[in-house]
Amino acid sequence: MGDVRVRKIFEAMFVLEEMREIFRNALPTGLNEEQERAFNEHLERLKQVIDELNEGKGVQLKFISDKIELRTREEEFININPIQPGGRLTVDARKALIAYGDGYSVCDYCLSPFKLERIRRPPIEEFHAELADFVGMDDVRVFPGARRAFQAVTSALIERGDVVLVSDIAHYTEFLAVEVAGGVVKEVPSGEHHVVTADAVAAKIEEVREENGKLPKLIMIEHFDYSFGNEHDVRGIGKVAKEYGIPFLYNGAYSVGLLPVNGKEICADFVVGSGHKGMASAAPSGILATTEEWAPVVFRGSEIKGDLTGRKFSAKEPELLGCTLMGATIVTMIASFPHVKERVRRWDEEVRKSNYFIDEFMRIEGCDVVSELPRKHTLSKVDTRGSFDRIARTHKRRGYFLSDELKRRGIVGEFAGSTKVWKLNTYGLSWDQIKYTADAFKEIASKYNLNVR
Ligand SMILES: *Cc1c(COP(=O)(O)O)cnc(C)c1O
Repeated sequence: MGDVRVRKIFEAMFVLEEMREIFRNALPTGLNEEQERAFNEHLERLKQVIDELNEGKGVQLKFISDKIELRTREEEFININPIQPGGRLTVDARKALIAYGDGYSVCDYCLSPFKLERIRRPPIEEFHAELADFVGMDDVRVFPGARRAFQAVTSALIERGDVVLVSDIAHYTEFLAVEVAGGVVKEVPSGEHHVVTADAVAAKIEEVREENGKLPKLIMIEHFDYSFGNEHDVRGIGKVAKEYGIPFLYNGAYSVGLLPVNGKEICADFVVGSGHKGMASAAPSGILATTEEWAPVVFRGSEIKGDLTGRKFSAKEPELLGCTLMGATIVTMIASFPHVKERVRRWDEEVRKSNYFIDEFMRIEGCDVVSELPRKHTLSKVDTRGSFDRIARTHKRRGYFLSDELKRRGIVGEFAGSTKVWKLNTYGLSWDQIKYTADAFKEIASKYNLNVR
């Protein structure tokens, strides 16, 4: 499988980077003789690679440098990995990454008051203004991942021993964010359907009140959980939170950048998104949006003062440790943003493709879906104990037989070796790719004499 031209494209890009490097080592007045010679040698090499591209042949490049392999998964395969599809970079983000890969690259035009979100070149300030609007909130900051956004909120709101409500299928990073702040988590049961309801949240609030004589300090619930990709009643939960006067953090790691999100409509006090999970951005990146009410708390300025120098940093925000995403990460977020704004409007189509795939998948005898049906998300948990796992039990490659068969057909991203309960994500696949992937599973099933309806 795989087109030989993919690796040739990387090779050509690497030669171009070598040429770029010559300029980085040259005087501003121009290349010297030796550099000109090196440049021309690279140019010849580039032409050769272009010829090979044209002819579709030549030696296949495997490594970038000593031990780092090329990563051609997105070019050579269909990737159904549960966490990766929403963070795949757009072509504009990849271009931005090439140009802004250097460390503090976005700080060229950082002017007073020296805050990341006030930089205008590249348009970080404009991005922030649009980003708050995009999630229906008043103010926003970027963070190194959704997890650091949780942490900013727990750090600002939670004191030792305070209770934070999460769900019993909450992501581990929510737990850890409460832990570092010295808080205690109480889990809202999602029940046999694995769906968190407003009633269950209200009941847990009452339980905490009875036990502690105090209300929880914060409620953190995901719109779509990482385990089943089920939708939880964030609107109802927002209402309950409001009634009790408890701040509500909407965890949009699996929604912001994939589907339309309006925090105010949900009565969310905080909206958290993940750049590398849902906004086609490099890792680690994420967002924390909030209301006018909470912005002065979470985005407050520093108050600390040096005892010798009397230095103060009131423009710097302690929960962010000043600046957050200062180069490649923010620039990929910005470059992808116009595409992200566009793609959330096509979410219904993504859900249709997800359901088409799952319907086809379930035509295989013994293939089941553990997530809610019909699917409301592209992430699904499947149970193949009655199908592929039965084959795995006697196959010499055990569970790896399925990975082998899929890989042979150009499909990767399932948890290698797992044939029991596992997750897949169809986000961003075209109809052709969806149908191809569904057919591949059915073909593998038939090959091993599993019935396909
Ligand atoms: C992935 C995920 C996170 C963590 O997101 P990061 O941006 O990697 O920190 C948090 N919560 C849920 C529900 C997730 O799926």
